[in-house]
Amino acid sequence: MMDRRNGSPLEDSTELRRAVIATALAMNTAGINVNTSGNVSARCARGTRVGFVITPSAVPYAELAEGDLVFVDAEEAMTGAHRPSSEWRFHFAIYAARDDVGAIVHTHSPHATALACQQLDIPSFHYMVAVAGGSDIRCAPYATFGTQELADHALAALDGRRACLLAHHGVIACGADLKRAFALAVEVENLARTYIAVRALGTPKLLADAEMTLVLKRFATYGQLASD
Ligand SMILES: [Zn+2]
Repeated sequence: MMDRRNGSPLEDSTELRRAVIATALAMNTAGINVNTSGNVSARCARGTRVGFVITPSAVPYAELAEGDLVFVDAEEAMTGAHRPSSEWRFHFAIYAARDDVGAIVHTHSPHATALACQQLDIPSFHYMVAVAGGSDIRCAPYATFGTQELADHALAALDGRRACLLAHHGVIACGADLKRAFALAVEVENLARTYIAVRALGTPKLLADAEMTLVLKRFATYGQLASD
């Protein structure tokens, strides 16, 4: 239902906005977000204006109503009563550059953020690392939150990937729809928790690139993290 079809985005709707709010609430329930540090967006259009809806800045998720979300179009024009999340620039940059992305979940989930605070990539220590689209999950260099510099770093770290870490900050997970982006954010946190445990046991042993390539092919066949 939330899939983009034929390359044209969904229309901004009450249903889509409810799904964005449900995803934001689910982040807290899943333990990957505290208060309103994270944010969620979904690509959509309002008539001929193409853009995305995003959670607003500083409104508790439990109090969010559909009308509180902010629509940001391709000209950076905003529609809504609130300011968008302070991180709207990297959402904007990702939608502009990546046709495959229909939704974005950003969190400060604790284990993934711990790795990010050490400026560590997540290497191929486990085959599930491939769910992010490649043989590793990169950590983007640090830049101040809300800046274009951070958006640029995030986009580079996401090259060929659907998720990345942000140094001294958190995680970005992308998907064709909200369900897939959320599932990936949960998976990255789970992988990060395991990777920290593995590092505590000694130097991590990694899977070879050839094996990760094979895993990626199998994921393509079996639809890993698919919504159906
Ligand atoms: Zn953040």
